[in-house]
Amino acid sequence: MNAEIIAVGTELLLGDILNTNARFLSRELSGLGIDVYYQEVVGDNPDRLKSVIHTAIRRSDIVVLSGGLGPTDDDLTKETVADYFNLPLYFDEQVMAEMTEYLRGRHIVPSNKKQAYIPEGAKIIHNNYGTAPGIIIEQDEKIVIMLPGPPRELEPLFSEQVKPYLDAKSDYIMKSKVLRIFGLGESSAAEKVRDLMESANPTLAPYAKDSEVILRITAKANTDARADKLIDEMYKKVNDRIGEYIYGFDDDEMKAVLCRLLTEKGKTIAAAESCTAGLFSAMIADNPGASAVLNEGIVTYSNEAKEKYLGVLHETLEKYGAVSEQTAREMAEGIKKAAKSDIGVGITGIAGPDGGTPEKPVGLVYVGIAYDGGCEVLKLNLIGTRQKVRYAAVLNAMNAVRKILLNNA
Ligand code: AMP
Ligand code: MG
Repeated sequence: MNAEIIAVGTELLLGDILNTNARFLSRELSGLGIDVYYQEVVGDNPDRLKSVIHTAIRRSDIVVLSGGLGPTDDDLTKETVADYFNLPLYFDEQVMAEMTEYLRGRHIVPSNKKQAYIPEGAKIIHNNYGTAPGIIIEQDEKIVIMLPGPPRELEPLFSEQVKPYLDAKSDYIMKSKVLRIFGLGESSAAEKVRDLMESANPTLAPYAKDSEVILRITAKANTDARADKLIDEMYKKVNDRIGEYIYGFDDDEMKAVLCRLLTEKGKTIAAAESCTAGLFSAMIADNPGASAVLNEGIVTYSNEAKEKYLGVLHETLEKYGAVSEQTAREMAEGIKKAAKSDIGVGITGIAGPDGGTPEKPVGLVYVGIAYDGGCEVLKLNLIGTRQKVRYAAVLNAMNAVRKILLNNA
């Protein structure tokens, strides 16, 4: 089955609202094994909406519309679809009762009543998250699904009601496993698994995302167990080749993986940051339970601060500069000592866009990691905007700490 998504709303065309519903729906549909071939955006205009629907119905098995189900006069999705299929609208008492219940205590205006009109023969997606119900119409082997625009309504309605409905229509299931890779670029990763990427089931697809590489294994099968087996076989093959770069699975981010590893090993960490100015500590603190592992984080932007709080030697800064292997080492050792932590991280670099020199270009970052067994310093040559350099510096630092934890005790 294939699908098409139509987002309705003039605010989308004006650029006032980001079309997050299209992204959500595309992801969900492809997770169900339904190919999404088209996405459109159309304003609150019945003629143009009708022409988009006309095109979509002819070429797609499933058409999902988002938005235009509100109480105001410009919300016309339901009316336009009903008109297109020549379906009369009837007043649904149960929908009205649910809406009254949802609006409890608040005044019900006549325009709310408009939301209780349903096309004849349609399936109703009852909405506990707002006033407008979603609607499914099955007509001539085609499925039209209309969902309210607000993401906090559309997302749970899709997950709780539309997904099971679509699942029941399909006789196979799709399952995915995401391998999260760090330290290997997209093309290098693809190069190492190129032949595996030719497999039709399961498929293996790489993509780059926020300084890391994702490899997604997707299997299609008639049972859950069979899909798991296909995924597992592919995972083993990938793992044999690039296992050392795989740091996590599915939604497990680097910061969560690191925080969990520190917790498991009973180790504490402290960070002294220059160019990342607290980002490392902040990302550790994103994890619930971070207090068990993070004991200090300090921003030492100036040379004076590096001397004052970390004991970086004046001579080191004079001789090698603030962005140097030596300074990163002294920062890491200094914070480890000051915080009495098991691991000390020092990050110093040139985030740009200014401040680079031929010897020390923008994107040059040193990461020092002091631990009981020694101190390692990483030299990174990062590319991208200031924010990207800072973010990539933190991810590299986290990955390096992770490796040290895995290799040393
Ligand atoms: P509706 O009344 O159903 O047209 O949608 C109401 C609100 O939902 C809009 O004002 C937006 O804030 C939000 N919304 C509508 N369409 C989208 C979309 N495609 N992506 C994200 N938010 C949306
Ligand atoms: Mg609207």
